[in-house]
Amino acid sequence: MRLAVIGAGMAGILSAIKLDETGLTDFTVYEKGDRLGGTWRENTYPGLACDVPSHLYSYSFALTPEWTHRYSPGPEIHGYFERVARDHDVVRYMRFGDEVTACTFVDGRWQLETASGHRDEVDVVIAATGVLHHPRYPDIDGLDSFAGACFHSSRWDHHVTIDGARVGIIGTGSTAVQMVGAITERVEKLTLFQRTAQWVMPQENPAYTDEEKASFREHPDHLMTLHSNLAEAFGIFANAVVDSSSPEIKMIEDACLANLEDNVRDPELREALRPTYRAACKRLIISPNFYDAIQRPNAELVTDSIERVEPAGVRTHDGRLHELDVLVLATGFKANAFMRPMRITGRGGITLDEAWTPRPIAYLSISIPDFPNFFMLNGPNGPVGNFSLIEVAELQFGYIMQLVDRLRSGEYREISPSRAATDALEAERTKAAEKTVWVTGCKSWYLDDRGIPAVWPWSFERFRAEMREPTMEHYAPR
Ligand code: NAP
Repeated sequence: MRLAVIGAGMAGILSAIKLDETGLTDFTVYEKGDRLGGTWRENTYPGLACDVPSHLYSYSFALTPEWTHRYSPGPEIHGYFERVARDHDVVRYMRFGDEVTACTFVDGRWQLETASGHRDEVDVVIAATGVLHHPRYPDIDGLDSFAGACFHSSRWDHHVTIDGARVGIIGTGSTAVQMVGAITERVEKLTLFQRTAQWVMPQENPAYTDEEKASFREHPDHLMTLHSNLAEAFGIFANAVVDSSSPEIKMIEDACLANLEDNVRDPELREALRPTYRAACKRLIISPNFYDAIQRPNAELVTDSIERVEPAGVRTHDGRLHELDVLVLATGFKANAFMRPMRITGRGGITLDEAWTPRPIAYLSISIPDFPNFFMLNGPNGPVGNFSLIEVAELQFGYIMQLVDRLRSGEYREISPSRAATDALEAERTKAAEKTVWVTGCKSWYLDDRGIPAVWPWSFERFRAEMREPTMEHYAPR
């Protein structure tokens, strides 16, 4: 059996390690970038971190005593993935700098084409292409006319000096908040253009002491315990957001509200920062220092909407020109692109674009009717945003391997979910989404074109249970 894994980020590295362990060594990991690391390779902005605690945001089979902080910085996370890939000797499977442009299902196998013209033919494709990957550029008049440096947060230009510069940031999502916390004290002036205020959950980020790290090294079982305790604590959050009337959501709201009331001194600024929707409706912002940073004398929160960008800066609708040297677009990602723009053609010539019109759909976020033996990690409608994506990917991979085993044993040649099972699950999922906090009156990247959350609306226990074993009646194998 030959396989292709697409993407050498967190999920692609996981796939390579697990395939290698299982003895399925005839595979290539295709990676368009020149290094592994996915989101942690692409995002290099100041302040980058993960708001999932590091001891949870780790592979369960590669826990490390060395994390420096509860929420360790981005470069350290990237280093972790590089080290784990090296330690498991899977870099040799990776083909860098070659983007898969097409996958076509022909006579029971997938034919792959890459940007360099390379071709491959495989039995199984595992798409590990990430979720928040394609930058979403704002449609603002005059953006191209800006005379200073302008870039998306995930394309940070390290040749540009921000120290002593006048820096503007558009957006107030997790990314912008992390940047504001990190750069305000370095720049001459920080201007944050806020369209929608955010709830901010205070969270300290203590460093692990040498003693703590030594103790983790000495007692690996303590690391395991910490990992599972954190998973349990996170599970409470994961389950709270899918039930907007839960007491836990109320606790989150109270904590965010107290953070705002207690820590923002100027009443006018406090009101400008006060959201008008429920906490955790948008992805909850976790920050130890955002409110401190935005209250610094060199920081300004601008709530007037943007009229246009001019060579000298950003003009808001009140007529004011905010003069800038650098403009950062922390405006998020196209969350419904997944592995597109890759051209993917399934059984009978159906294209992924056709299958995903009007919107992406997948059975358990892993597989798509008529795309046999093509499996996704962190595909559409999964538990993104309220859990550690690493555990999600590990569970999904274990599930996919059970399907792959059935192909390997010769029990089936082609496995894809039935249309009926996919539609039934989707209908149930859409209904369940009505109870979640994501539909309580805000806009976010969680919502699809109908305003329905394109994410897992059930408990994490249910996800774990679904991932335990495929229900073969829901498939239409051949
Ligand atoms: P985001 O949450 O989608 O936020 C985009 C921001 O840009 C919003 O504030 C949005 O305003 C604003 N915006 C977009 N277009 C605009 C326009 N034309 N004019 C003015 N404002 C505009 O993006 P993100 O901050 O990059 O975060 C995306 C996701 O990445 C997060 O939700 C999280 O899941 C993940 N992330 C995670 C971490 C972590 O620590 N784990 C860190 C960073 C990011 P509106 O709110 O009004 O739409």
